[in-house]
Amino acid sequence: MKVLVLNCGSSSIRYKLFDMPEGQASTGGLLERIGESSSVLRHTSAGREVRREGRVPDHKEGLSWVVRALMDPEHGAIREPSEIDAVGHRVVHGGVRFTGSVLVTPEVLEAIREFSTLAPLHNPPNLIGIEAAGDLLPHAPQVAVFDTAFHGTMPRYAYLYAIPYEYYEKYHIRRYGFHGTSHRYVTLRAAQILGRPLEELRLITCHLGNGCSMAAVKGGRSVDTSMGFTPLEGLVMGTRSGDVDPAIIPFLGRREGLSADEVEKVLNRRSGLLGLSGISNDMREVERAAEGGDERAKLALEVFAYRVKKYIGAYIAVLGGLDALVFTAGIGENSYRMRERICEGLEVFGIALDHRRNRRTVGRREEDISREGSPVRVLVVPTDEELLIAEDTFDIVTKEGGWKG
Ligand code: ADP
Repeated sequence: MKVLVLNCGSSSIRYKLFDMPEGQASTGGLLERIGESSSVLRHTSAGREVRREGRVPDHKEGLSWVVRALMDPEHGAIREPSEIDAVGHRVVHGGVRFTGSVLVTPEVLEAIREFSTLAPLHNPPNLIGIEAAGDLLPHAPQVAVFDTAFHGTMPRYAYLYAIPYEYYEKYHIRRYGFHGTSHRYVTLRAAQILGRPLEELRLITCHLGNGCSMAAVKGGRSVDTSMGFTPLEGLVMGTRSGDVDPAIIPFLGRREGLSADEVEKVLNRRSGLLGLSGISNDMREVERAAEGGDERAKLALEVFAYRVKKYIGAYIAVLGGLDALVFTAGIGENSYRMRERICEGLEVFGIALDHRRNRRTVGRREEDISREGSPVRVLVVPTDEELLIAEDTFDIVTKEGGWKG
């Protein structure tokens, strides 16, 4: 079965075509700047990238570019659109309703639309992507895979904020958590790597990319996570502040003459590594500057690592111990220095690195980087959200989607 995995952002479409159940993907790409004067499609096939530019006014046209690229006689993988058997979508917010992936029906679409109030930047483009795929590939069943779903197993005391309960009832204000597909993927891989049943594992998974979040995972189920009602809470990120005293928001509003929306923008776009260092939101650049002696860059790295360390301590308490700590995403997979900083001083919890192994683990490589004989395994597991979306899509379509093969 050929499964097209789509991740539609406000002005972009990321895509990958999988052969399932083998899980192999030889083609994929990224179309950016949809709606601008010139859009760019970077299509990769068998390791070679081809680039196309032109005006793509909307996502429907964008998706037809994608399908055309997939049908290219030289760089494509299919001859006609009907060869795409199913489409799997990354959808950011599944609200309180979706704790797993689902076949898209008119009712599911309506629910995703409803949850747009909770994720106004993300759910609308996800919806547009589903509608465009429905128009262009009407024969292909579609599956929605939610970023929030994996955290649907959190207990009430972990997801409720201590604000008047009526706001939870009225507006569904609670912790949802995000990056769920990534946390789920590395959880499943960690159990395989450790060769132990998922049911008996206590894991802390650290997704450290542009956006950063951690999850406490007990027996394969997320019991707490650092992102909250929105992806702003928790760790220090590229441009996001993570945890702050909420009283800072009205304070800044008064002193800087900013509206609530403007302060939210400051916290989302001008904070984190960028805000602290004044240099960049990109970990590589901040690390480079710190090595060159820049004090603010050093400070940004310290705050970043300290926050992760605090959550590790908190989640060990939540889990009642720890079997493995898992690092993933751009920083987690590549920055051995940051992994070193984070794990420093955690020997008391049984966390100790094999520094040689840690230093050589970069660039999408699975590795156990813990010191021989230390009680907690420390793993680097490159995330693969698209593969998990393809697997969910394959499973659901073969079971419920009437696929005859
Ligand atoms: P996204 O959330 O956009 O998918 P990624 O998972 O690609 O982001 O992570 C991007 C982050 O990973 C950036 O901060 C980048 O600097 C960092 N990163 C990538 N490679 C390295 C590296 N070799 N060393 C340090 N940081 C890295």
